[in-house]
Amino acid sequence: MEQQLSQIKQDAIAAIKAATSLSELSEQRVKYLGKKGSLTAILRGMGKLAPEDRPRVGQLVNDVRKELETSLDDKQAALKANELANRLSTEKIDVTLPGRHHEIGHLHPLTLTLNKIKGIFKSMGYSIAEGPQIETDYFNFEALNLPKDHPARDMQDSFYITEDILMRTQTSPVQARTMQAHDPNSPIRIIAPGRVFRRDDYDATHSPMFTQVEGLCIDKDISFSDLKGTLTSAMRQLFSDDLELRFRPSFFPFTEPSAEVDITCVMCHGKGCRVCKGTGWLEILGSGMVHPHVLEMSGYDPKKVSGFAFGLGVERIAMLSYGIEDLRLFFDNDIRFLKQF
Ligand SMILES: [Zn+2]
Repeated sequence: MEQQLSQIKQDAIAAIKAATSLSELSEQRVKYLGKKGSLTAILRGMGKLAPEDRPRVGQLVNDVRKELETSLDDKQAALKANELANRLSTEKIDVTLPGRHHEIGHLHPLTLTLNKIKGIFKSMGYSIAEGPQIETDYFNFEALNLPKDHPARDMQDSFYITEDILMRTQTSPVQARTMQAHDPNSPIRIIAPGRVFRRDDYDATHSPMFTQVEGLCIDKDISFSDLKGTLTSAMRQLFSDDLELRFRPSFFPFTEPSAEVDITCVMCHGKGCRVCKGTGWLEILGSGMVHPHVLEMSGYDPKKVSGFAFGLGVERIAMLSYGIEDLRLFFDNDIRFLKQF
């Protein structure tokens, strides 16, 4: 019995030493110390021993068990440390690898153009005013001198939500809203940028949704020369210093007199090309002196103050600035196009 025990101990110690992995070690633990293990078998066979031998052999078995447990635990700790060292060396981070690239977005060409326009007018003392895209008939038309039966309404056919509520066809309602919220004795200098909606085709130069910037200046002694000076300065900052402007008489219900403004063609510099249809001029914006009736409707006294207003299309300015021929490119979200700005 004692010889058998010492053999088991010898075999077990050798097997534990030889184990190269945690799973192998755990097999050895079961083999020697498990319920069906060899050491357990000896304990079970102790009933056959003479009673006086039992305490001594029992003590021996326990000593062997303790010895094996210690050596199993030591080996397990060593194997674990080994495994960790292995993982650390194989899974270490290579700091010389190039980093993962996160692409950062950028501003849309229309936003870039709008920001430029805003910057120019802010530098001239204008502030930014905004209003709702869903507008009442009153602010979109009536307060701007366009009563229900006015024929000019046909040019701005829109999307109606109810009889009296529509998608705004212009940013001009922001002018009316600003005037009515303003003290009629203090001056106004605002631009109102934003989206507008018209029932229109979707082709290279038209879209049912586009971006407008309207401007309004009201003060004592504002004259047409202030309008000309302001727009000339703004357009020259936007395109080029040598730009010429041409004011043609026109009609808008909310201004009197009204003028359509042309600039020298930015493509051919006035020589005549396909873009300007050979004329050397490009239509760029509408403008005029605020109609006395519009002033009165918003509580201003046309005998005391005067003002001018203008409106321009941001898409058109962006197309001319960047040499883009199809307006739909702005809204198609084609990343190959957008990446160029
Ligand atoms: Zn031209």
